[in-house]
Amino acid sequence: MSKQQEPAVSVVPSVPLCAECAGPLSFDVSGSRFVCGNGQCAALGMDLPVWRVLKRAGLAVSAVVGLPRPVYRGMPVPWIAPVASDGRVWFRALDGERLARAQNEWLCQLCGEALPRRAWVFVTPGGLVLQAALHEGCKDIASGFCPHLSGPVTRAVPRPVTREEISADGRPLPVAGRSDPDFPQQWRIL
Ligand SMILES: [Zn+2]
Ligand SMILES: [Zn+2]
Repeated sequence: MSKQQEPAVSVVPSVPLCAECAGPLSFDVSGSRFVCGNGQCAALGMDLPVWRVLKRAGLAVSAVVGLPRPVYRGMPVPWIAPVASDGRVWFRALDGERLARAQNEWLCQLCGEALPRRAWVFVTPGGLVLQAALHEGCKDIASGFCPHLSGPVTRAVPRPVTREEISADGRPLPVAGRSDPDFPQQWRIL
């Protein structure tokens, strides 16, 4: 008598394939980047940002702007989080294109809407700004849900700022070079 066997691994519908070897990609330990585990592949060990992989595979969807935010697994979905066409959200990754837009156009990283002249950022004890700015209300929403923003790892605290009080690559934001999806700015408090 042979028992019907359950498949050992369930198939996830939106696993992107490696552009080099067409094998399925998996996540690195941080959960924010794809890696190709094929030892014969030219892409082995390469940095594969989630948003780039999803976009190349045709699996990326554009993010909704405004409040209330869509909810995934009980958490509000930030505008800058990569979202796949099957609904999956990568909370620990960033969409490079939306992040660059948020930085260049002074948009809120949580809701994607335009910010007032004075907005809020999360600042680490070392003066690094976590990604981009937020509305005051969006800052409160993020504080409640994103351990990454204000938790024990980054020990970041919210702070109100204008663009003049932030620098990128050593220059005040109003005169700094533009943020690029593949090389987003790292903001610092001046
Ligand atoms: Zn590969
Ligand atoms: Zn907002």
